[in-house]
Amino acid sequence: MKAFVTGAAGFIGSHLTDALLAAGHTVTGLDDLSTGRLENLSRAGEHPRFRFRQGTVLDRARVEEDAHGADVVFHFAAAVGAFVIRDRTLESLRTNVHGTENVVEAAYRNNATLLLASTSEIYGKNTLAGLREDDDRVLGSPLKSRWSYAEAKALDESLVDAYCRQRGLAAVIVRLFNTVGPRQTGRYGMVIPRFVRQALTGEPLTVFGTGTQIRCFCHVADVVPALIALAHEPRAFGSAVNLGSTEQVTISDLADRVVAATRSRSEVRYLPYEQAYGPGYEDMLRRVPDCTLAKELVGFEAHTTLDEIIDSVAEEIARRVRQPTVPRR
Ligand code: UDP
Repeated sequence: MKAFVTGAAGFIGSHLTDALLAAGHTVTGLDDLSTGRLENLSRAGEHPRFRFRQGTVLDRARVEEDAHGADVVFHFAAAVGAFVIRDRTLESLRTNVHGTENVVEAAYRNNATLLLASTSEIYGKNTLAGLREDDDRVLGSPLKSRWSYAEAKALDESLVDAYCRQRGLAAVIVRLFNTVGPRQTGRYGMVIPRFVRQALTGEPLTVFGTGTQIRCFCHVADVVPALIALAHEPRAFGSAVNLGSTEQVTISDLADRVVAATRSRSEVRYLPYEQAYGPGYEDMLRRVPDCTLAKELVGFEAHTTLDEIIDSVAEEIARRVRQPTVPRR
């Protein structure tokens, strides 16, 4: 099978690329290296069935050319991370809306199957423990930068849905809930690599808000096989599917567990949201998926526990911290 992966040098895209190559597929990877890193492709880069293209999904001709002949398109190129969305709201909107439009059209023209990486942000402030795919979205003002990301991703979902219904595109939308693991950087706001780095370097762990907000973290190694399986499962086409863990943790508990796992002497410091993200930031107090659909479709289960996740991230970041010549984040 020929796969086209956008965002191939990113955290999830690079793990997906490695898995596709290991399964015998041919992969073209596109990335503009805005938040992705070539270092993430050091294994794939050596592979005879892999070719890397540096460019943006906003470049329609580039996307058309790279998608040519693809059987499956995995669309992971996006502006992500709370700090990116806050600081580069306009560019993020353009990438996440127009970039996706280009990729969806290219998949359609090639008669390829499409997997769209979407997000649990879609559900916004809905705190139901066990969010199902057809649950309501509860969003704040579109003028708050955080919700602009959810707006863009929702538009992407509607676009894919319309291509499925009106043009017969075979596509599945995957809503990812806090996927974590090695190669994820804390530079753009993601909490686990930030806490682990802070703990390993003796800096205070910065808990934003009260720390009572709840998340479920899922290891990328559990997510990637499900992505490949969903792209091959016709029963999934035309649907959105949640992928995540159901092991809940509060952010203050997470900080304590990172300190314990790394045997760190760092303190835990609480920062108001305003100081962390600027004025008007709204967080979600709980975000827990119901993954019954993914289990039914492809037997998905999140096997990796939170403690195992923390250990695997700590192992990688400890290696980076010990090698200061390697980019630090
Ligand atoms: N968070 C935190 N300290 C940090 C980074 C994030 O307390 O240094 C919080 C953040 O406010 C949120 C949670 O951790 O409540 C998860 O943040 P992340 O950006 O990883 O994911 P998301 O907000 O999309 O769930």
